[in-house]
Amino acid sequence: MSSHRTVGMRQLRVAVVGAGAAGLCAARHILSRPDTFAPPVVYELAEHVGGTWFYEERTGSYDNGLSIHSSMYRNLRTNLPKEVMMFPDFPFDPQLPSFLPHQEVQKYLERYCQSHCITPHIRFSTVVDEVSPVVTEGKGPMTTWEVTSGDKSGSRNTETFDSVFICSGHYSDPHIPSIPGLERFKGKVIHSHSYRHPEPFSGQSVVVLGAGASGLDISLELGRSNAQVTLSHGKPTLPFPLPYGVHQATPVEEIQEDGSLRFQDGSITQAQVLLLCTGYNFSYPFLEPARLGLEVQEHLVTPLYRFLMPPAFPSLFIIGICKIICPFPHFHCQVQFALAVLEGSVALPSRAEMEEEAQGEMARKVERGVQLRHMLKLDKEQWGYAQTLAQTGRFAPLPPVTQSLYEEVWRQRQVHPQNYRQLNYRLVSDTQWEQQELHAGE
Ligand code: FAD
Repeated sequence: MSSHRTVGMRQLRVAVVGAGAAGLCAARHILSRPDTFAPPVVYELAEHVGGTWFYEERTGSYDNGLSIHSSMYRNLRTNLPKEVMMFPDFPFDPQLPSFLPHQEVQKYLERYCQSHCITPHIRFSTVVDEVSPVVTEGKGPMTTWEVTSGDKSGSRNTETFDSVFICSGHYSDPHIPSIPGLERFKGKVIHSHSYRHPEPFSGQSVVVLGAGASGLDISLELGRSNAQVTLSHGKPTLPFPLPYGVHQATPVEEIQEDGSLRFQDGSITQAQVLLLCTGYNFSYPFLEPARLGLEVQEHLVTPLYRFLMPPAFPSLFIIGICKIICPFPHFHCQVQFALAVLEGSVALPSRAEMEEEAQGEMARKVERGVQLRHMLKLDKEQWGYAQTLAQTGRFAPLPPVTQSLYEEVWRQRQVHPQNYRQLNYRLVSDTQWEQQELHAGE
């Protein structure tokens, strides 16, 4: 067993990388425990908070040469209602409809930041380019962390912390699938990371690859804007006919010599645009994974105890790495669990036991036939996971209404992908929600 309360009575110093929803959540909870923690240092490469939710019309790079972080598109409305999307201790404005345009989420995060007095602790336009452990021998081995960052003026700075929260997001490094002959495609190839609005594609033939949340949404909005859309995906078949003439096809198998696309079922089409909605790679350019006992692959980071920390260095926390989750409530639980670990109120098992648990979890998924790229998808497991964190970390669990409303919306999304966002919900209690009148829109 190891405990972290080993630095005498001084406050623990924590660095937070990123001021998106996860980083703000980390900062908020650190600031609420002044007896144990010094105010955090939050590093943010952009000039604003919000991360994903800060819409950038431009694509490509910021002025400092770094790639634009956000993958937000202009017409995006949330795919979760605000009643489950919110941090459980910070509701959205009750006047707003359940499904929000992205601007409202950005305003919400700015309000969260202001209400919890986080702004003074954020270093904007400051990029973290190295996070490394320093192990010293005292009564036992002790780890501190050196965080090196660079700011706008070009100056580099290294500071030392007791713990680091990695909140840098994982929707900014586009995953480009290996399609044989891709270089032969004669039209335009873009990734959804750089998609902003449908107008440039009006009247064009577009093959959208991937039917995840973005692939489906973007196909429908392109179809509505008069593009001829083929949605190519490997799902058995979506359980509904798609509106706006959006045609479905099997995965693209090859780009042929003449630039046409051949699908898995042998059919062939020409297209002017190939829009890749094929997800994102994990990318932590500021970490040296091998030194941390970690392996970072395109779609997987292992081993992580409780999907959160490397067993070899349990004072480093990667927040929000899981997929198919309810993100803000999930961050809220992970952050509080991590702080309970640092406070010493959660007694961690030994490194070997943590490794065994993390690897055992993955091995069981492999046995169930889960593919590597789906290993970090939690889906239905997210509720038990959050409950375990709350029990072990001794903080309030998520209210049961979050799960029941999330599952209802998930069901509606499968059946009515083009208009499930017209529904409005209201939380009646911790266990009950009700559906309200339809509102105009879509
Ligand atoms: P991010 O929002 O990506 O924030 C990471 C921050 O870290 C950024 O500000 C970035 O600039 C900063 N950063 C990165 N690297 C460094 C560095 N080296 N140094 C300093 N700073 C750094 N979730 C929902 O709940 N509902 C939805 O409807 C929904 N829709 C989505 C639609 C799209 C198109 C996408 C991409 C995601 C959507 N999500 C949705 C998921 C969304 O990612 C989460 O809600 C949440 O915003 C993730 O927050 P984060 O803080 O983990 O990451």
